[in-house]
Amino acid sequence: MDYTCTVLFRTSQQPDWAALGLPIARTTALSDRCYTHDVTFADDAAVAAFRAQIPELSAAYGGDICLQARNDTYRNKKLVVFDMDSTLIQQEVIDMIAAYADVEDKVSAITELAMNGKIDFNESLRRRASLLAGIPATVFESLKPDIRFTPGAHELCRALKKLGCTLAVVSGGFVPLARWVKAELGLDYAYANTLEISPDGTVLTGQVVGDIVNADRKAQLLRQIAAENGLSPEHAVAIGDGANDLVMMAAAGFGVAFNAKPIVQQKAPARLNTPTLLDVLYILGYSADEQRALLA
Ligand SMILES: [Mg+2]
Repeated sequence: MDYTCTVLFRTSQQPDWAALGLPIARTTALSDRCYTHDVTFADDAAVAAFRAQIPELSAAYGGDICLQARNDTYRNKKLVVFDMDSTLIQQEVIDMIAAYADVEDKVSAITELAMNGKIDFNESLRRRASLLAGIPATVFESLKPDIRFTPGAHELCRALKKLGCTLAVVSGGFVPLARWVKAELGLDYAYANTLEISPDGTVLTGQVVGDIVNADRKAQLLRQIAAENGLSPEHAVAIGDGANDLVMMAAAGFGVAFNAKPIVQQKAPARLNTPTLLDVLYILGYSADEQRALLA
């Protein structure tokens, strides 16, 4: 059972790995703050025992520890599918639109209901969209100047394209901004929800049209994009911060929870809690020198 354990600590202090049951065959420094340990576990129980210690170790040493099977998909990802809000960009677009339309309190109340499991994502999206009836269809254009990309988003996408990856954004947000993000970052695909516009083209009607991009649809889109490109989902990685990204992480061979909610961190294959998306390249196995070469 060959695994790679990627360690991204904020300090150079390292735990006593052997004492923690990590049978290290080889250690490679990817940078002065990131190491990979090649490890071979005796059985599934040994993997599970080490995996169970990861949250505590991460907290104690201040950083991220990621255990992944060392197979032919390591350093060989073909498809990367990103969530948009709080992943590629730093904001939640629905909150920005709510502020624009001055319905923040009402939108927050619906978000709260959804977070407590009182209503599902589709219902919460429909309810939030209905609050936007009558606002100018130009809202998305107005929001673009305020969108802040996550640090490292442009560089990561550029590096992944150099590596030959197909890139996609699948968002529970809205098509006009997802398409814009796709263009800005040089992605290949953008899928999101469509808010209906009045027949005269002036205002939002408050209705959502077409398939709603929820957790299951995100996973379905990942499989669809993989199939269209003749790729196995095993060679895909999904990156997101929300509970509705977990299904696509499971559909992909691998997943990274980026500065994610605690429940998502617990359930995702890997966690990354650093300020820059570029650090995803460490988890995918690329050293600082290789990253510089990819971005040169
Ligand atoms: Mg998100």
